[in-house]
Amino acid sequence: MPELSHFIHGEHVRGTSGRHREVFNPVRGEVSSHVPLASRDEVSRAVDSAQRAFPQWSGMNPQRRGRILLKWVDLIQTHRDELAETLSNEHGKTFDDAKGDIQRGVEVVEFGAGAPHLLKGEFSHDVATGMDVHSLRQPLGVAAGITPFNFPAMIPLWKAGIALAAGNTFILKPSERDPSVPLRLAELALEAGMPPGTLNVVNGDKESVDALIEDPRVKAVGFVGSTPIAQSIYASAAAHGTRAQCFGGAKNHMVIMPDADLDQAADALIGAGFGSAGERCMAISVAVPVGEATAEALREKLVERISKLTVGPSLDPTSDFGPVVGADAKARIEDYIGVGVDEGAELVVDGRGATVEGYPNGYWVGATLFDRVTPVMRIYREEIFGPVLTIVRAADYNEALRLPSEHEFGNGVAIFTRDGDTARDFSSRVDVGMVGVNVPIPVPIAYYTFGGWKASGFGDLNQHGTDGLTFYTKTKTVSTRWPSGIKEGASFIMPEGS
Ligand code: NAD
Repeated sequence: MPELSHFIHGEHVRGTSGRHREVFNPVRGEVSSHVPLASRDEVSRAVDSAQRAFPQWSGMNPQRRGRILLKWVDLIQTHRDELAETLSNEHGKTFDDAKGDIQRGVEVVEFGAGAPHLLKGEFSHDVATGMDVHSLRQPLGVAAGITPFNFPAMIPLWKAGIALAAGNTFILKPSERDPSVPLRLAELALEAGMPPGTLNVVNGDKESVDALIEDPRVKAVGFVGSTPIAQSIYASAAAHGTRAQCFGGAKNHMVIMPDADLDQAADALIGAGFGSAGERCMAISVAVPVGEATAEALREKLVERISKLTVGPSLDPTSDFGPVVGADAKARIEDYIGVGVDEGAELVVDGRGATVEGYPNGYWVGATLFDRVTPVMRIYREEIFGPVLTIVRAADYNEALRLPSEHEFGNGVAIFTRDGDTARDFSSRVDVGMVGVNVPIPVPIAYYTFGGWKASGFGDLNQHGTDGLTFYTKTKTVSTRWPSGIKEGASFIMPEGS
């Protein structure tokens, strides 16, 4: 059985904790490797290494760092198919979807290569007689990222790309479910010219995460994962004086107005609901048709489309989506489908018991559709994170606006309409962080920022874009007066603005 490693100071390092976890191929339902789970000592060694690398990396001018980042991008692109295959084999998403996972991460590294411009500070001339003030953004030191299983390339690249661009050294603690792509990304960073220790990968679970947060040498933690863990890491980081931004779960709604192009809306819902087996934090899990006629017509179109969907092996180009990530995920999703039935929702299409020829042990869950779901039901309130789409019928626009606004989560939301005024009103009033107008998965591009509201995000700065650079840097403000002002001797009076 292949034994994976950590990647510390430019080398693969075997785990020494004696603890490991199995990594599965979800198509076959078989163990494909073992990943070591780091002890506190191993985490500490990774932090030592990142701390040793910091003076060289942060001392390099940002344009030179940017060139290395662009070389990294080149290498990732050169190895894209290999990375995508590895990603599919551990995660289960289709090959093309895996390529998208890599691409959306690479775009953030490309954005980070613009750090020389992005890190420019402010300058005010003559704020008082002979005095100027300027501010600069400096790296924090050693920063860390803790990332989820569902985007094993994109989210590590979002975190590391920006932190490294700003001059920090970085420790990535990827998901223990699919660690091979993050390890390969770190190898490619070294090949691109990043000095050893600049990007370390430590595999592990709660023990390594706690060790990172509690180590005073780790100055910032960027977390992405489920809400209970996000919230507890945010609290623990605050208690240890560590800067944190923690992004959590979601329940994304898509409102379909009566004037929308219903074929377009149904196609969008199928892709956004069932793509990647619904294991996206921006997946649509709640369709909100406005008015009974819209609901009936939409439901008919969804059922027709679902009947043509193919769940199958990730590397088979005819598969629309692959298996879910693990046996536990399959059991949890199927359990939720049972809960929905018990709660009185109408199960229109049941994805339980899906089978794929030749892969009897794969973690298959077919596309599932519930209608007449209500806001009190658990299948509406809780994140299922699987290929389960629910329809909540809204009587009118105001009810449709209220549903996502009053939901505990506030990651993404979409509205499908042909009416600009409705779209504009919805975008400005809905209490959700990212909005799509006739765009079902509004993941902002690299140079905007990504972040959900309410229980979907803890902390005040978003990921990537300029917020990302703000998060991974600290501001220094320098007030300067050259000799003539103090030549006459010290002043004991509080300086005034003018
Ligand atoms: P998860 O919370 O189980 O794990 C995320 C990370 O936390 C992993 O690295 C894991 O090893 C670590 N972890 C797990 N338990 C821990 C504990 N008790 N203490 C400390 N660390 C712990 O999440 P997941 O199942 O890997 O990912 C799916 C979740 O991530 C979903 O809820 C999804 O909505 C969310 N997600 C959110 C975003 C976003 O930007 N808001 C993006 C992608 C995924």
